[in-house]
Amino acid sequence: MIDRRRFFQGVYRLPFLGAVVPPALAAPAERNFYTELGVRPIINGAGVYTMFTGCLMRPEVVKAIQAMSTRFVRLTELHDAVGKRIAGLLGCEAAMVPSGAAAALTLGTAACMTGTDPELIRRIPDSTGMKNEVIIQKSHRFPYDHMVRNCGIRMIEVETREELERAISPRTALLLFLNKAEPQGQVKMEEFIALGKRRGIPTFNDAAADIPPLENLTRPIKLGFDLIAVSGGKGIRGPQSAGLLLGRKHLIEAARLNTAPYSDTMGRSCKVNKEELVGMMVALESFLKEDHASLYKEWERRVAAMSRQVSKVPGVRAEPFVPRIANQVPHLRVEWDPSRIRLTPKELMQRLRDGEPSIELVPEPSTGVEIASWMLQPGEAEIVGRRIREILSQG
Ligand SMILES: *Cc1c(COP(=O)(O)O)cnc(C)c1O
Repeated sequence: MIDRRRFFQGVYRLPFLGAVVPPALAAPAERNFYTELGVRPIINGAGVYTMFTGCLMRPEVVKAIQAMSTRFVRLTELHDAVGKRIAGLLGCEAAMVPSGAAAALTLGTAACMTGTDPELIRRIPDSTGMKNEVIIQKSHRFPYDHMVRNCGIRMIEVETREELERAISPRTALLLFLNKAEPQGQVKMEEFIALGKRRGIPTFNDAAADIPPLENLTRPIKLGFDLIAVSGGKGIRGPQSAGLLLGRKHLIEAARLNTAPYSDTMGRSCKVNKEELVGMMVALESFLKEDHASLYKEWERRVAAMSRQVSKVPGVRAEPFVPRIANQVPHLRVEWDPSRIRLTPKELMQRLRDGEPSIELVPEPSTGVEIASWMLQPGEAEIVGRRIREILSQG
C-alpha cells in the first residue's frame, strides 16, 4: 500500500501531468501480459512441443506451486519425500524430479559414471579413467542423446544383438534405449534388459513423450530398466521445467548427488525448486487418477468435429490417425488435391499462424497438415476446423 501511495505522490508531483486522477485506486485490473509484451497466445493444434510451451499445467498443479511458494524448506528433505511418494505411486525402487526428461538423461548418465564418489562427481565431464562409453542401437540415436554426451561420454552405435554384446567393455557406463524407437531396433526391450543384467551394466530408457497411455511407462518399469526418463511437462501436464528419473535406489542416490543443491556438480543446472518438486508430484497423482477412457473419447470427438468441417471443401480429404508410440493420441491429417487447391501445406500453416486467433499445427507433418487434439482447449477444435475450411475454400 505504501508503495502505491508513494507512486501516486510521485505522479502528482510531475507538473506537466496536472491533476491526474489515479486510475486504479481500487483493486488493479489483472495485467494482460500478452498485450503488454506484444506476444500473441496461440491455439495449440501441435501437441506437446517445448517451442509452444509444452502443455497447460493442471489447475491443481498451479495451486500446489502457489501453496509451496510461501515457506522455506530444506531442499534435500523435500526431494527425499517427493521421490519416495513418486516411487510408491509408480511401483519403482526410487525416483527423483529433475528439470525435465532432458535433465534426467544427464543426471542418470552421470550417476552411472560417478556413483556416489565425490571425487568423480567433481571431475565430470572430464571422464578420463571413468566408464565413459554408452552403447546404443543405431536406429535409437536421437537429438536428446546430446544430454548423455554432456557427461563426456562416447556413443557406440550397434545394430545387432551380437554387435551389442561385443561392444560391451570395462568402459561401458550404460546401455541406452529410446522407448519410442523399439519397433525400429533389432534388440527389443526384454532382450536389451536381460543383456544388461547378465553383464552387470545399467540399462536406461528414455520414455519422455510416451504417456499416455500409462502402459508405455509401466511396461519398462516392470521389465526392469535400471533408469527411466519421463517428461513432466508433456502428457502428465506438470511443470514444463520438471520431469521424472525413475530407477534403482543406488543410481537415483548418485543422480541426486550430481545436481542441486550441490554446487560443484555438472548437473547443478538441472535444478528444480520446491514448487516444481511438489507440482510434479501432484501432476502425477492427477494423471494416475484421471479417467483416460473418457478423455480419449473427448479427443476423438474433437478430431471428428474438425474432420466434418474441413471435409466440406471439395477436393479435401480428412483422415483420423493415432501415432504408434509417442503422442499416442487422436490426430487428424488433412490432405487436398493440389490441382483444385493451389496452396501448399506450409502456406496453409503460415496463414493459420498469421490469422486471428493464431493457430499452430504439428510442425513437421509426414504429409498434408496434421492436427493433434489433446492440447486444444474447449471450443478450439471448432475454431481450427473452421479456419482450415475457410482458408482451403479460398484456395
Ligand atoms: C521431449 C523429449 C525429451 C526432453 O524432455 P523435457 O522434459 O522437455 O526435458 C527427451 N527425450 C525425448 C524422446 C523427448 O521426446
